[in-house]
Amino acid sequence: MANKLLLEVVTPERKVVSEEVDIVVAPGELGEFGALVRHVPFLTKLKIGELRFKKDGVERYVAIMGGYAEVLPDKVTVLAPAAEEATDIDVIRARAAKERAERRLREAKDKLEFARAQAALQRALARLKVAERGSR
Ligand code: ATP
Repeated sequence: MANKLLLEVVTPERKVVSEEVDIVVAPGELGEFGALVRHVPFLTKLKIGELRFKKDGVERYVAIMGGYAEVLPDKVTVLAPAAEEATDIDVIRARAAKERAERRLREAKDKLEFARAQAALQRALARLKVAERGSR
């Protein structure tokens, strides 16, 4: 469709989103960016965070665990190590992951353990935020 943009969010396990949308907003490495149809092409790394898109006036939310986005005039492709739509997020699991990561942060014995725990905490917080946004 002329005024729509194809959004594909893909992980090694599955295709999480494949939709004709009106706008995509994603957590770029250099800050959040929005893409509409006919955007100038670019490629960016993504941060762990929230991707949202609007389709026919309805906004939907996806937790993105980093990865890359390719923006083309008629298509946005996101390749991420993991991603879940708000409605697919297991909140109890994310809360447990958050608590585990906080404990690992307190008990970390070196920089690597600390960095791993920090990344796990970021993933859990992103999932909790997106799940909450999606349930409103
Ligand atoms: P956990 O410690 O709970 O496994 P994690 O951050 O280590 O969390 P990931 O490595 O990012 O998990 O993801 C592994 C797989 O599990 C992916 O397929 C991801 O989509 C899925 N996943 C992880 N956490 C959740 C969740 N809370 N709800 C739904 N799917 C999840």
